[in-house]
Amino acid sequence: MDKIRIHNLKVFAHHGVYEAENQLGQMFLVNVEASCHTRKAGCSDALEDSVSYGVMAREIHAYMQSHTCQLLETVAEQLAEMLLLAHPMLESITLEIRKPWAPVGLPLDYVSVEITRGWHTAYIALGSNLGDKEGYLQAGIHHLKQCSQIMVEQVSSFFVTEPYGGVEQDDFLNGCIKVRTLLSPFELLEKMQEAEYASGRERLIHWGPRTLDLDLLFYDQEIISSPTLVVPHPEIPKRTFVLEPLAELAPWLRHPQTGLTVQEMLQKLQTGHLS
Ligand code: ADP
Ligand code: MG
Repeated sequence: MDKIRIHNLKVFAHHGVYEAENQLGQMFLVNVEASCHTRKAGCSDALEDSVSYGVMAREIHAYMQSHTCQLLETVAEQLAEMLLLAHPMLESITLEIRKPWAPVGLPLDYVSVEITRGWHTAYIALGSNLGDKEGYLQAGIHHLKQCSQIMVEQVSSFFVTEPYGGVEQDDFLNGCIKVRTLLSPFELLEKMQEAEYASGRERLIHWGPRTLDLDLLFYDQEIISSPTLVVPHPEIPKRTFVLEPLAELAPWLRHPQTGLTVQEMLQKLQTGHLS
């Protein structure tokens, strides 16, 4: 990916754990490495096709001067989020905040904190089989949209499907969405569970009736195995009701463990083999 850099931007600000730092202030140095595609701007020679380093530098300066944090970690986190939301062309950003006059009481050049943050692509399956099913799916999507760090980019059609898992219950309505998010996989799962609870979901029977079920299918090409989160969702290759809506959004998307595309997984499930 192409890079746009700002090197050692000097900002006089009041961040620090000690009260004296908050009152007197000190100089901070900020380094930025912004990853984005500059090809379009390179061909058009138009600033609106790129990310302005001048605008970014002024935004960093204004933000650091108008806020007071204890930790450099917090300053970096807040700056990264602000810049990524303000400049949609940015894919990711590395920010280093240096503090040359940190009150450590020992000779050193500077202390610093460096973070990298960016956008991730996730696919989420939605299901409901109680009450106003379409209303619950829409409410789930709406709930996720309320979070500034989640952009819902695509919504599939909703499919009526028969219940799964051998429990006697009403038909399901299933769909799938593609989101762009700044959240980590675990933070995204937390937002999804918040949406489930907001729809009045109670976890009574495993695979039983539910107002809203949100499952994280894919998060970039990451593979996660933990007690609370498994990604890619292990049931993907076995579920037509997940693969059908997903195939509308990303038939070419490859499973990072099996190497099969969504279209291939669907074909294999429906016909038992790949053509
Ligand atoms: P199911 O979706 O299998 O019917 P639940 O929605 O009740 O079951 O989820 C049970 C647990 O599964 C959740 O508490 C969550 O921590 C865990 N889980 C693990 N991986 C995922 C994933 N990829 N998406 C959603 N939940 C997951
Ligand atoms: Mg679930």
